[in-house]
Amino acid sequence: MFDFSPTDEQALLLESVREIMKHYPASYFKKHDREGTYPKEYVQELKDSGILLLGVPEELGGTPVDKVTRMLVNMELARGGAPNSFIALNTLAISDMQEFGSEEQLKRVVDAFNEYDQTMCMAFTEPSGGSDSYAMTTTYEKKDGKIILNGQKTFSTGAAESRYALVMTKRPDADEHPKDAFTLFLVDLEKPGIEMSPLHKIGMHMISNCEIFFRDVELDPSDMVGEEGKGFLYLMENFEFERLGAAAEACGSAMCAFDDAAKYAGERVQFGKPIGSFQLIQEKLTDMKAKIETMRLLILQTAWEADQGKSLRLTSALVKRYCAQAAFEVIDDALQIHGGLGYTDESRVSRLWRDTRMQRIAAGTDEIMSHIVGRQIVKEYAAKQ
Ligand SMILES: Cc1cc2nc3c(=O)[nH]c(=O)nc-3n(C[C@H](O)[C@H](O)[C@H](O)COP(=O)(O)OP(=O)(O)OC[C@H]3O[C@@H](n4cnc5c(N)ncnc54)[C@H](O)[C@@H]3O)c2cc1C
Repeated sequence: MFDFSPTDEQALLLESVREIMKHYPASYFKKHDREGTYPKEYVQELKDSGILLLGVPEELGGTPVDKVTRMLVNMELARGGAPNSFIALNTLAISDMQEFGSEEQLKRVVDAFNEYDQTMCMAFTEPSGGSDSYAMTTTYEKKDGKIILNGQKTFSTGAAESRYALVMTKRPDADEHPKDAFTLFLVDLEKPGIEMSPLHKIGMHMISNCEIFFRDVELDPSDMVGEEGKGFLYLMENFEFERLGAAAEACGSAMCAFDDAAKYAGERVQFGKPIGSFQLIQEKLTDMKAKIETMRLLILQTAWEADQGKSLRLTSALVKRYCAQAAFEVIDDALQIHGGLGYTDESRVSRLWRDTRMQRIAAGTDEIMSHIVGRQIVKEYAAKQ
């Protein structure tokens, strides 16, 4: 059996996360959510305290820790009411460049990490190419020793706050299923020919999601990330860890909503009794707790397996599929327990409800996660016959 009770070191780290979160009460995020502003102080404190550099090598200013520890921290921050996506985007920038980029690209993102609100946004999705990556049309051509980029991306989280974008392109002459036709570029968003337009969302108001337009943007060959034609492979690797991190954030948000709902159930009196004394409310709390425990174990077991060197390709899709939906169900029940108050922005659960719904779509939809996992199950059982 696995023992996922925190080690002394992890317990200390989680205690420091809880201390940090005391500086950012519900009212802090409520204000930023209402005003649609970036929670600068919160992100800066995560940077200053080293939380955003957990898992990054010491020579880059980070602290090497295992994936189980990173997931525990992701969950604890979200449990304290932190919005999702802020950790993932900054840490992925550095880990992606370490994995696939050059030394010089790694230096560029580390410098940007220190100077900008967000380091690098992911620019994969296009208006015609969402779940179907093969349908993307952003492309590049080589001309006089330069690379000319043209196309359009959409939904890019944090694009307006980032210095760089990791842009996926496709060779224009690629055939129908061109796995080797995708190439990634590290694009400086301050370059001429780039325009952005923010999308207006139902949640996630503290960070931008933008359409990005590239019109004859001149890049240097050194902006190519890794090898030409290997972009799809790198994208899949990026998604593996991104999906596990997203599941941990969703689970933490569910824990936060559960804490609020369980407290409210003891305080709110109807028919002369706290609503927590009614069995239908108790049933909801029980179901919520069971889902939270299942999510937590699934996330930590998957992170532990990854720490042992096991591939995350399928398990990260399974974990994201389960946690994105289960977390939203928990938060929906928490909103229900708050009654009418839950439907107003006076309650924190209303923001968690709007924000966490995103996890069922971003970084691959529920349906695509089921497709990845289900296809493999069918294949495995067919092979046994
Ligand atoms: C808040 C938010 C943040 C995001 N951040 C980023 C980001 O930073 N960078 C980025 O590149 N993208 C980002 N995205 C985009 C996200 O990855 C896409 O929205 C997602 O991949 C789905 O693509 P789509 O919206 O085009 O939907 P579509 O692919 O058009 O899908 C529409 C519906 O059809 C279903 N569907 C599609 N194909 C199949 C199939 N084969 N079988 C069954 N059902 C199917 C989908 O599951 C979905 O329910 C973000 C999205 C959101 C909402």
